[in-house]
Amino acid sequence: MAHFETDAIHAGQEPEPTTGSAVVPIYATSTYVQSAPGEHTGYEYSRTDNPTRTALQTMLAALEGAGDDGGCVATASGMAATALIGYLLQPGDHVVLPNDAYGGTHRFFARVLGEQGIEHTVADLTDVAALEEALRPETKLVWIETPTNPLLRVVDLAAVIPVARSGGALVCVDNTFATPYLTRPLEFGADMVLHSTTKYLGGHSDVIGGAIVTGDAELLERLRFLQNAVGSVPGPFDAYLVLRGAKTLSVRMDRHCHNAREVAAFLAGDDRVAEVFYPGLPSHPQHDVAARQMRDYGGMISFRPTGGVESARKTSSATEYWFLAESLGGVESLIEVPSLMTHMSVVGTSLEVPADLIRLSVGIEHIDDLIADLDQALGSGV
Ligand SMILES: *Cc1c(COP(=O)(O)O)cnc(C)c1O
Repeated sequence: MAHFETDAIHAGQEPEPTTGSAVVPIYATSTYVQSAPGEHTGYEYSRTDNPTRTALQTMLAALEGAGDDGGCVATASGMAATALIGYLLQPGDHVVLPNDAYGGTHRFFARVLGEQGIEHTVADLTDVAALEEALRPETKLVWIETPTNPLLRVVDLAAVIPVARSGGALVCVDNTFATPYLTRPLEFGADMVLHSTTKYLGGHSDVIGGAIVTGDAELLERLRFLQNAVGSVPGPFDAYLVLRGAKTLSVRMDRHCHNAREVAAFLAGDDRVAEVFYPGLPSHPQHDVAARQMRDYGGMISFRPTGGVESARKTSSATEYWFLAESLGGVESLIEVPSLMTHMSVVGTSLEVPADLIRLSVGIEHIDDLIADLDQALGSGV
């Protein structure tokens, strides 16, 4: 294993032996010719394994520090990765979810697994006592997100993971917002790391994908079995897009973080803004935790305009460069109102977010253009 920036470009991505192709080819094949029955190169059928997907899995395992025993299973989406983890559970098992989990994660556990006799409790995982209270003897899984979506709470991994695991539960950290460049949850003892590679890893808003990384050989074997048995795999072109995107993760994240820091400072100093949520601000309640466990503070910011939900609606509709759209983590800046868009499915639940909250995914455009655009949009919202 080399350094992070080097692994992103080289891990699993040796030159292709036949031609020397410097880029991992898109192996568009469903099957592989055998020399005699059962005698093959290791590849038999592309649901089970495909070389483009193998390269992606090897690279992601290296970035998360999965070690020699560990590895990665890539999936067709982040939710497909979550669903694979769902197959590790049995009726009667119990799950602890964070109180601002990604909406789709909450929907899956509440409305899909909930109907199959798998119960869950929602807890504020920034509070270790709240986790201790939520744990039951039958708790088999504790789900962590940090920073959370959309309120950017930071969970203290060093404090929470040992407590979560003490009763025998598996810990899965959804690392989509931080990416392995900023935080590596396996180093804190997590059993699994989950990604929506749709976001920062892909990085260009042009692919849907997911992945689970683990350092545990037995868990990896079970997940690989499930990946093949369930079949929710990414095609080779999608695997290629994530591989290509992730090569530049470190340089993109540096710019995302730099721009976000400037945007957060602008918002914090503007009297049209009531509240800013960004782990990099010293006023953030978990700023110290973020400073300890993150290399930098990420590219996501939320804020509440003073003018309420009507102002949030107008501001988010008035930007030029900030596209009004769901998703996050691409090179282009995005703006959205979670209560009206991404978080509609949690309205009326314990995960409900403030109606007037605006979420920003800060892209890598020039910072002056981003701030000027927000400034004029806020003007139209008052
Ligand atoms: C987008 C997202 C997911 C779901 O991923 P898909 O690729 O959309 O299926 C899960 N967790 C987080 C934090 C996300 O942002």
